[in-house]
Order: sequence, then structure tokens, then C-alpha cells
Amino acid sequence: MTAIPAATPPATPPAARAAARAATRVLVLNSGSSSVKYQLLDMRDSSRLAVGLVERIGEETSRLVHTPLTGDGAEKRERTGPIADHSTALKAVAEELAHDGLGLDSPELAAIGHRVVHGGLRFTEPTVITEEVLAEVERLIPVAPLHNPANVTGIRTARAMRPDLPQVAVFDTAFHTTMPEAAARYAIDVETADTHRIRRYGFHGTSHAYVSRRTAALLGKDPSEVNVIVLHLGNGASASAVAGGRCVDTSMGLTPLEGLVMGTRSGDIDPAVTFHLKRVAGMSVDEIDELLNKKSGLVGLCGDNDMREISRRIEEGDERARLAFDIYIHRLKKYIGAYYAVLGRVDAVVFTAGVGENAAPVREAAVAGLEELGLALDAELNAVRSDEARIISAPYARIAVAVVPTDEELEIAQQTFALVTGASEAGNA
Ligand code: ADP
Repeated sequence: MTAIPAATPPATPPAARAAARAATRVLVLNSGSSSVKYQLLDMRDSSRLAVGLVERIGEETSRLVHTPLTGDGAEKRERTGPIADHSTALKAVAEELAHDGLGLDSPELAAIGHRVVHGGLRFTEPTVITEEVLAEVERLIPVAPLHNPANVTGIRTARAMRPDLPQVAVFDTAFHTTMPEAAARYAIDVETADTHRIRRYGFHGTSHAYVSRRTAALLGKDPSEVNVIVLHLGNGASASAVAGGRCVDTSMGLTPLEGLVMGTRSGDIDPAVTFHLKRVAGMSVDEIDELLNKKSGLVGLCGDNDMREISRRIEEGDERARLAFDIYIHRLKKYIGAYYAVLGRVDAVVFTAGVGENAAPVREAAVAGLEELGLALDAELNAVRSDEARIISAPYARIAVAVVPTDEELEIAQQTFALVTGASEAGNA
């Protein structure tokens, strides 16, 4: 393949580094096509100072929900009414933050960390944003048409507001850039693949990085000593095989469509199904895209994508919900087995994100019958509801099974802060 030179992250100027050292806050921005999620963190203790969300940007019914978390009795505030674009949205966020004395012009703000979905092969690390970096993120739009444009808009808006402040891009794909070629390449014509940058990039990397590191800490080990299978089960879902802290395989591919059964995405499918839908069912490419990304997975199978609702329906004897659950679990099990084989030795299987953290029946079913592989749950521990990272395997099981709540914003903030303050490593979560 054509070698793409590794990024040389532009050095943060010494003056900016010194200023950032005195400043301890990081604003994390996650800009979607019609939404902006944000959190302001104080990196001295990783505490949240404010969290919020602007949604339905560009519509008449936009909404900003801001929750300050400083002081006692801080109350959620809400604004409704049209917010025309990202720039207006960010201005409104800045006003809300300023209202609590946390404005974007505060000298205590060290940096803004942006979630960027696709960093291609070039961005293997968090990167200080320059025009050149932005141009490269834009160049990746053909492989991330749904996400990168919104990320770029968010970054441009934030840079216009605070051009002097270091801003950092943290890429969803970065953690997966360590995948060996054997795992990252599709078995298709090499020239075609390289010309169009078709390969497996993987997503949710910030979560997989954070959760695999936290799992090592939970086991009392250094990440370099443990092999972990991470199951990130949210509305989007992905699995990864992490060997000694490095990702060696992950279930999402060129786009987030590959892999596990998700809330609305099919996950793995025979690619010929798409030809069939076009040739025989007469669907357009856009219709097929919509079918596989938005109308498939759990919602396609049973009409619901929320695991709580599916569990409730199963209890009532609903067979479609049961079948959707069984298909979901079957795929999950296949990935556990596959990544067991990829890793050779597994120290922990860890569940995270909305379903992984909360749905005990999913965890139970996913590892049921895998005792021969060293996997067994403690039913009582599995049933406990908690926000804490915890082990839920039976004492006799050879492999730990854990639940570790993910925290992508904290990971983005830590990586951002580490980069702008010149610390050698992201915080030890
Ligand atoms: P994303 O970030 O991908 O939108 P999340 O990680 O927040 O998603 O996960 C959302 C999903 O988590 C919901 O669609 C629902 O299926 C599941 N979920 C949330 N809470 C529970 C719960 N208590 N029990 C079962 N499933 C839950």
C-alpha cells in the first residue's frame, strides 16, 4: 500500500504551554450534524464544571440544555427556539458558561478538545489543530461523510471564537491505527482499496482506549500486561481486541456499519445483499444506505432499538423481540470467540456503554455456555446496578468479566490537557 506519512503533531508553542499550565480547564466539544454536546472539566481532579447539549440546530425547535455542576443547588437551564447554525449554538453555550463564571474567555481555560470521528491513517494521536490539520480532516470527508463535516464546522466555529487558544482533535479512529495489516485490510484488490482508502479503520476508539486501560487498573495491572476484549454496546456497538494496551482488531470497519448488531445498523452482512437490493428490489444506493444504517439492527428486527423496551417485551412473551435479542447475542458471542482466538490469551472481557453497563441479561447471555473458555458470571454481581467499574465474574472463572462505565469526554479532556501542557501521557484513568 502507499505509505501515508505519520502526522508530526505541531508543537504547542512554549508560551501557550506555560499559559496552559496555569490554566486547568478543558472544554470538550462533540459536534454532530445538528447537535453539539459539551462538557467543561477541571483537570486538577477531573471534575465536571458544566455539561450540556444543543440539539436540532438549524430547525425552529432547537434546544439548549445546560447543567452547571459548580456549587450547591446548581440548576439545569433550558433555552428553546431557533438556533440557526453551529456558530450561534456555540455562542449560546459560551453565554451559558459565562453566566456561571466559566466563560470561554476565562484565563483558566487551557484548551478545547474536539471529538473528531475520522482521522484516517494519518492521525494516530491527539493533534493540535492547525489549518493544515483541518484540511486533512476535510480530505477524509469521502470516508466519513456523515461525521467529519460536522466536526470540521464545530472546530472552525470554536477557533473563530478563541483563535489564541490551543485546540486539539481527538480521533475516534486513532486507537485502532495499531491494528496489523492482516486485521485492517479487506481481501479486495489492493490497488482499488488503496486508491479509495478502503480499509478497516474502526470507531469508538476513545472509549476502547479508556475502558481497556481502566480494566487493567481494575485488575491491578499495567495495560501492557493484559489482553482485553472490550464490548462497547451502546446504540452503536463495537468490539475490540486489545493486546498489552494496543488495539489488534476491532469490529467496525471503513464505516461504523460493520460488526455487531446495533440499535439501527445491521452490522456484518454478505456484501452481495446490497447488490441484491439494488438489482432485484430496485432500491437506490441511498435507500440501501438508509436501510442498513437506520432501519436495521434491533429496530429492523423488532421495531425497537432500546434494550429496556426489548427486555420488557420479551418478558411479555413477544417473539419478535426474543428473536432480535437472540440475533444480537449470537453475533456478540461470535466476536468474543473470534477475539479470543485473535488474542490467544485473554485476561478480561469488559462490557461498556448504555447496554453493556446496564443490561444484565445481555451480559449473562453473551457469556453463557463459555465456561470451557474460562468465562463465567457471578449472577448476583451481574445483577448489581452501579456506576462503578466492577468485576462480575465467578470467583472460579479463569478470565475476569468486568463492567466499566465508559467516559469518552474525560478521555478527550485528558488527552487534550496532556498534549497542551506537554505531559508525556494522558492521565492514568
Ligand atoms: P450512544 O452513545 O451510542 O447513543 P449509549 O451508550 O448511551 O448510546 O447507549 C444507549 C442505549 O443503551 C439505549 O438505546 C438502550 O438500548 C441502552 N440502555 C440504556 N439504559 C439501559 C438499561 N437500564 N437497561 C438496558 N439497556 C439500557
